[in-house]
Amino acid sequence: MPGFVDAHMHLFPGFVSRLPAFGVTAAVDMFSTPNVLDAVRRESVHHPLSARWMSAGVGVSVEGGHPRQLIGQGMYEAFPSLDPAGSVAEFVDARIDEGSAFLKVFLEAGRVAGQVLPVPDADIVRAVCQAAHRRGLRVIAHVTDAAGGLVAVRNGVDGLAHAVIPGPDDAAAEELVREIAERGVFVIPTLVAISSALGIGHGELFAGTVARRVNQAWTAHARHLGRTTADPAAWERTQRFVAELACAGVQLLAGTDAAFPGVVPGASLHVEVALLQSCGLPLDDVLTAVTSAPGSLFFTDGVGRLVPGGVGDVVVIDGDPQDQLQTQRLRAVVMAGAVVTSDLDAAVEEPAERASPVTAPSPIFRRSP
Ligand SMILES: [Zn+2]
Repeated sequence: MPGFVDAHMHLFPGFVSRLPAFGVTAAVDMFSTPNVLDAVRRESVHHPLSARWMSAGVGVSVEGGHPRQLIGQGMYEAFPSLDPAGSVAEFVDARIDEGSAFLKVFLEAGRVAGQVLPVPDADIVRAVCQAAHRRGLRVIAHVTDAAGGLVAVRNGVDGLAHAVIPGPDDAAAEELVREIAERGVFVIPTLVAISSALGIGHGELFAGTVARRVNQAWTAHARHLGRTTADPAAWERTQRFVAELACAGVQLLAGTDAAFPGVVPGASLHVEVALLQSCGLPLDDVLTAVTSAPGSLFFTDGVGRLVPGGVGDVVVIDGDPQDQLQTQRLRAVVMAGAVVTSDLDAAVEEPAERASPVTAPSPIFRRSP
């Protein structure tokens, strides 16, 4: 099969060099800062068989809003926020000049975490989309409630970085499914992260070679969920929302939001595959969601496909991939035509030499909305 693509990650030093060991040969970074990305870049140079990656950079957030709490938590250095009275186009241009490969806009109202957070208004979202589209870049919204999702899709975003978590009898969620389908917006449900945020873990879904490759520290991380009390009703509503998107023919992409609490870089993409299937996606659509769909949306030159003259990122699966968890039975992983040489039956430990002096505080992944 083509190498797997994780369409929603947050890269830190130590990630890109480990991902191919889990069959993940390309990753889309959905938010990061220049210092962290410099470190990731150095790691890619130091480890030539690292996963391919690209990043949204810091995207568009407003003062006091998500994800600016991550500065205070010490996870990222200070990064610019949009001044609502300033020029949106200039802000977007500055992000593109900084290296953003697409624009992320943060519309996290905080409801899921029981908070009220400021978000960019509809005019700003529209202006961001216009400015980014003018430069030929896509816009992806972080939003976790249906009302915010409607603001995003009605004002021009190309994709949603998460499934929303519908409330009980949430008419806006039904409307959102319709509008997403009508406008051709793609969705990266990140079910493995949302279930963790709702207190439901899926570490038991690690299997085969992948299960053996998760080391002790990351096993502990898999058990450390986004919250301690489970909300199975909200989780069921979220799964139903994703099933309705699939029925409506919406393009879904497999992404994990690693390393959100409970989510392991590389390994959890296989759990996401299983969760997408549990929402009723046909297996062919799931396999597309984890290979060619994100490959062609975010990368060029045949990433996520097996084509003559392509990138040569290949995953060899022991068995028939037309079977639920077979993606986890890795026999071999090939990056750019070179076999990733590592003992597939051993846990993946951190690289001996970190590629950068940037070290994230420990524990680096705190609970956040
Ligand atoms: Zn994310």
